[in-house]
Amino acid sequence: MAEEYDFDVVVVGAGFAGLYALHKFRDELHLNVRVYEAGDGVGGTWFWNRYPGARCDSESYYYCYSFSPELAQEWEWSGRYPEQPEIERYLNHVADRFELRRDIQLSTRVTAAAFDDEATRWTIRTDRGDTVTARFLVTAVGCLSAPNVPDIPGLDDFAGDVYFTAKWPREPVDFTGQRVGLVGTGSSGIQATPEIAAQAAHLTVFQRTPNFSIPARHKAFLSEDQAKIKDGYDEIFALTRESFAGFPFHPVDRKTMSVPEDERQAILDGLWEEGGFKFLWGGFVDLTRDPEANEIASEYIRNKIRETVKDPETAELLCPKGYPYGAKRPPIDTDYYETFNRDNVTLVDVSAAPIEAITPTGLRTMTAEYELDALVFATGFDAMTGALTRMDIRGTGGVALADAWSDGPRTYLGLQVAGFPNLFTITGPGSPSVLLNMPVAIEQHVDWIAECIEYLREHGCSRIEATEAAQEAWAEHVAEVGEASLFARANSWYVGANIPGKPRVVMPYAGGQPMYRERCEAVRDAGYEGFVLDGAAR
Ligand SMILES: Cc1cc2nc3c(=O)[nH]c(=O)nc-3n(C[C@H](O)[C@H](O)[C@H](O)COP(=O)(O)OP(=O)(O)OC[C@H]3O[C@@H](n4cnc5c(N)ncnc54)[C@H](O)[C@@H]3O)c2cc1C
Repeated sequence: MAEEYDFDVVVVGAGFAGLYALHKFRDELHLNVRVYEAGDGVGGTWFWNRYPGARCDSESYYYCYSFSPELAQEWEWSGRYPEQPEIERYLNHVADRFELRRDIQLSTRVTAAAFDDEATRWTIRTDRGDTVTARFLVTAVGCLSAPNVPDIPGLDDFAGDVYFTAKWPREPVDFTGQRVGLVGTGSSGIQATPEIAAQAAHLTVFQRTPNFSIPARHKAFLSEDQAKIKDGYDEIFALTRESFAGFPFHPVDRKTMSVPEDERQAILDGLWEEGGFKFLWGGFVDLTRDPEANEIASEYIRNKIRETVKDPETAELLCPKGYPYGAKRPPIDTDYYETFNRDNVTLVDVSAAPIEAITPTGLRTMTAEYELDALVFATGFDAMTGALTRMDIRGTGGVALADAWSDGPRTYLGLQVAGFPNLFTITGPGSPSVLLNMPVAIEQHVDWIAECIEYLREHGCSRIEATEAAQEAWAEHVAEVGEASLFARANSWYVGANIPGKPRVVMPYAGGQPMYRERCEAVRDAGYEGFVLDGAAR
């Protein structure tokens, strides 16, 4: 039944961000909070992405919340990179443990939100017919939650089954005996490929751009691993908050060119054997900064691909060229390259011969037709802005967020948008967000927002809004750091290049966590510099 209520805070989304936001605002600030979630379960990313092979790439012991030492001590991760069901179980455990469910309305999509200047309140509407008001609107909608459905002619005419990795069915899909086509070789495609290949009669992977993938080296944890992790949590979490990208790796100051070639090779071999994100962040300090250093790591990975994949032509097609390692979101895999040695797997280069159409019986490229029984799209997301602009959010004067961002997103600290008072965006564009191990970015944002709301309350204020000047200065800084970074040098979702017509902007803040945290704290300590507050503090 449709309802009409007034809340202190409405939170949109019940993934890592929304769950923690609810706990923080309700249980620490004692606010009246309602969470709306489009899915019929909590978990966000880990509710929707149920495709075969879905697991985290950050390691379990730091891809988790740090806010509750008790939670960290009581939860047992089964291994280095848990699969989707285990992370979904963890987030459900969090929802139960902190009694969050009673304030979460599932299967409800927020369709619109408008700011009422006079009342200093947001009016929020849902697809279930609810209209509620709230002093603050906090989006926890996820950077990677608005699936990108490619506009390929004929998709509706395909006679077989069509799947999207980003909204996989709850019931397991059985590809036994089927000819499967997989479109997209980003992180999800790379995780799904070996699993589907092991089941299908034949798998054809349609690749536009090859990716640099590092072996995950997944392993189950023994009880001594568990004990070591639990004993070390204080240091692990401290490191995640201090490090450049939110990983608990001790900082290295070694530059690639500062070590002799044989030693360098040995270090890279060690990192390759260890597997995971450490290859980018844990060996040399300059892979993300110095093109020459990056090229050494890039060529190292290419040579590993050439060593692994037996057919030289396939190997060469799988070797990324023309952009640096790390400029796209680096995938972590289990037997991805090895899978192309299977007799039932074919790689098709759709950069040379683009996809023209889906036919009733398969897929047609410029040069060939492929008969298929099922199609899997691992085509990613309208990242960072999609989930926000797909809602009709209107600020003062009825201005739509989608219009305010028509030339690319502009925010103050990725936390607020000028003209949209009392709206906070967790991991919004212009914050480090997807360039960090995300739970770390999420907790920092939620804590900052909670402190801000508390400050407003203590100072008798009901309204906070970023100034245009502060937003412009921050947006300029984000652009400057972004353009100078390696992320500007590839056509990736970081810059919106996967969505036709999306403005090309390095959306996340590339200056690293330490600089970003320092800035957020300085703004707070200066009484929310760059924001206009009403009431006593104005
Ligand atoms: C396959 C995959 C693997 C990943 N692995 C890692 C990893 O290893 N390390 C890492 O740091 N990050 C990883 N990420 C990024 C991941 O998204 C974040 O780590 C984290 O889960 C984000 O949490 P969130 O709560 O911000 O967003 P999400 O988990 O995306 O949750 C957002 C929720 O908001 C809901 N929502 C959106 N719009 C509306 C609306 N209008 N109304 C109601 N509800 C709405 C969505 O349904 C969704 O449930 C991965 C992402 C994917 C897709």
